Amino acid sequence: MPQLATQLEDDTLVRGRATVGDFDLTICTDGIYLLDGGAMFGVVPKTLWQKRIAADAQNRIRLGLNSVVVRTGKQTVVIETGIGNKQTPKMRAIFGNQELLMKSYAAAGVDPDEVDIVVNTHLHFDHCGWNTTLHPDGSVTPTFKNARYFAHAGEVAHGHLQLDRDKVSYLSPNYDPLVESGQMTLLELAGPGATAEICPGISVELFPGHTAQMMVVHIESGGEHACYVGDLVPTAHHLDPTWVMGYDLDPLRCIEERKRLYSRAIPEQWLVLFTHDHDTPMARISLNEKGKPVVAG
Ligand SMILES: [Zn+2]
Repeated sequence: MPQLATQLEDDTLVRGRATVGDFDLTICTDGIYLLDGGAMFGVVPKTLWQKRIAADAQNRIRLGLNSVVVRTGKQTVVIETGIGNKQTPKMRAIFGNQELLMKSYAAAGVDPDEVDIVVNTHLHFDHCGWNTTLHPDGSVTPTFKNARYFAHAGEVAHGHLQLDRDKVSYLSPNYDPLVESGQMTLLELAGPGATAEICPGISVELFPGHTAQMMVVHIESGGEHACYVGDLVPTAHHLDPTWVMGYDLDPLRCIEERKRLYSRAIPEQWLVLFTHDHDTPMARISLNEKGKPVVAG
């Protein structure tokens, strides 16, 4: 059984850079974390998924925590903020996460104070952790003090329900202080395909399934298109529409929504940005000889 390395070298803290028209994209990381491989691949047998990704003795696989910084020329936009620094020691031991995002931003030359906009695809703890920072005196403050934050109103409401199925995924210090202070704008888009503009060239679109209100983030400039797909397709290993996660609240919806994504992303040659793929944080997608979506060669 492999021992999975979670220690990242300093020169690997910036996971990639790309341009989309006039926009510059930088992929930063909050580090690696470990999740159960079975939960990540739902009903897919281990005999199949382990051909693509190795599991350790505890059946955990290595996942990334990618935070994309978009510089539009007018605004600096952050998409997703990793796990953050509010994990209890017990949770940190379980996930093996390292709280590297501030170090990764520094390596990329990104100052949190310059960030104008933060977008969360949904409010699971591993997507919005650095929205706020925990200080030694126990206080929690916005990490991006000059930014306007955007999330879906339904995610906050769902988190507050604290349902048995997923309450561990919703940690209110990641969003409640921002909602209470008015720094977070809560979006109300309803129905698959509903969209909202965040700023010129950046918009969100509802792609339900993983949660009822998960949104992808479109980045469009100069006729080019990138799309941060959140947990709709968490890694490049999950491109097969049926390889949905055990965590997905509505797996059938996820399958249909992935097909809806590919029907545009493949012919229009979108640059797809994955949240949880450390090794392949971005890729264009094509269909293989069996008609299955794969990373374009
Ligand atoms: Zn999630």
